[in-house]
Amino acid sequence: MTDLAEKLYRNKILSKPEFVELINSDAETRERLRALAEKLRKENYGDEIYVRGLIEFTNYCKQNCLYCGIRRDNKNCSRYRLSFDEIMRCCKEGYNLGFRTFVLQGGEDPYFTDERICEIIKAIKEKYPDCALTLSIGEKSKESYKRYFDCGADRYLLRHETADKTHYEKLHPENQKFETRIKCLENLKKIGYQVGCGFMVGSPYQTAENLAEDLIYIKKLNPQMVGLGPFIHHAQTEFRDFPNGTLELTLLMISIVRIMLPKVLLPATTALATINPLGRELGIKAGANVVMPNLSPVAVRKDYQLYDNKVCTGDESAQCKSCLEKRIESVGCKIVIDRGDSKNN
Ligand code: SAH
Repeated sequence: MTDLAEKLYRNKILSKPEFVELINSDAETRERLRALAEKLRKENYGDEIYVRGLIEFTNYCKQNCLYCGIRRDNKNCSRYRLSFDEIMRCCKEGYNLGFRTFVLQGGEDPYFTDERICEIIKAIKEKYPDCALTLSIGEKSKESYKRYFDCGADRYLLRHETADKTHYEKLHPENQKFETRIKCLENLKKIGYQVGCGFMVGSPYQTAENLAEDLIYIKKLNPQMVGLGPFIHHAQTEFRDFPNGTLELTLLMISIVRIMLPKVLLPATTALATINPLGRELGIKAGANVVMPNLSPVAVRKDYQLYDNKVCTGDESAQCKSCLEKRIESVGCKIVIDRGDSKNN
């Protein structure tokens, strides 16, 4: 079956049945894919790993995604939102640590109107013109996306979650439409953002066919970034009894995406670090080239719980940078002070 790995490496795409076969492949093929992905990461990005300072600025959310710990109906979630000044302080701290990309992520919080979001974008871009600003604040109208872009936002992360409509409907309440999610991604691309899509590996009801469709969708969208992490159940959601996504399958997906889109930005996610103590390192060995440490004030970190047992939420996590540096050096790479734009244009 290593033949299929070579075929993917040559053609940068496979048919759906071929992807399914690859997803079910043996250990030898998986190792071949990993080695090819690592080689491509090195060819395109050398030993450089880009860092993004993640600011989780609100956990209020009007949406009700069945898998997510900050969903509207989770009454046990202690809600917070950061003030303008708190957000600016996070950026200052991040800038001093050498971060040149800030990611504003949050639930879909109606308090943060377009006016408020634009005010924050403008302030950050004015104070840190050498930094890139990424938004990850969910589904908005095309007009809103355009306003944020015109105020200076550079990138937008919106995972498609699954490329299969029926599967999408199993993960979301009825009013959250698959078509809306896909339309949002199209709009973001048209406006000119550097766009990131992605999905959870091992989400409830996901099949190998679904994963194959995700890969084909990603190839077609040709985004600048792809966020992949294992699904991890959250005790206060209906999916509490579903098993978590596995390390092996997540690493395999990272490698396949790296081979399909050699220049794409691929984070080794916090969820991956949560299911395995060496998740970040193994993610990098499998082809990832980005890490997104948390810049949120330590006091609120434990409340941004999309899933159970999230790492780096305790007091010790203020030293994230040196811990990360050591981890990244252990796999022969180094963190760089750089905006880290995608080479996949
Ligand atoms: N509200 C924004 C951003 C926050 S959610 C949005 O919808 O885009 C960011 C991502 O976290 C989601 O896209 C989802 O893929 C992931 N996520 C949510 N719940 C999760 C869980 N239980 N396990 C793993 N990842 C999860």
